[in-house]
Amino acid sequence: MANVCKKCGKPLPMNYKHKKCERCINEQAETIRKIGKIGGTLLSVALLVVTKGKKTK
Ligand SMILES: [Zn+2]
Repeated sequence: MANVCKKCGKPLPMNYKHKKCERCINEQAETIRKIGKIGGTLLSVALLVVTKGKKTK
């Protein structure tokens, strides 16, 4: 029974440890990095708003 990538269905090597192929893992890592960047920006904006809101009150 050959393993296939959970994302794109590409056949994976027998001793492959991951459930996704290398390309999909890289893609996912890239997506996580992008989300992390966006999340970090949103968080700092939210913090700024919260801080400003507290100072105004
Ligand atoms: Zn894949």
